[in-house]
Amino acid sequence: MSRENLVLKVKPEWCKGCNICVHFCPTNVLELDEDNKIVIARPDDCIKCGLCELRCPDFAIYLEGDEDENEK
Ligand code: SF4
Ligand code: SF4
Repeated sequence: MSRENLVLKVKPEWCKGCNICVHFCPTNVLELDEDNKIVIARPDDCIKCGLCELRCPDFAIYLEGDEDENEK
């Protein structure tokens, strides 16, 4: 699967604001809002490396494949 087809998704309601993903993101895509929930602040800078998904303890951020969305 080509990485370009991956879409970065977040579930702010699952985010506990630990800040791990914000720190691990190599291109500074992510931020926490005033409620300490995750926001994709700079989506254009995301290189789809998957580090945020890997490090998030709460499955609140993940890359989703375009091709698998037929059931939507
Ligand atoms: S996939 Fe990589 S570049 Fe994109 S937000 Fe997550 S850590 Fe940052
Ligand atoms: S690592 Fe997960 S729980 Fe922590 S701030 Fe990021 S999205 Fe929220």
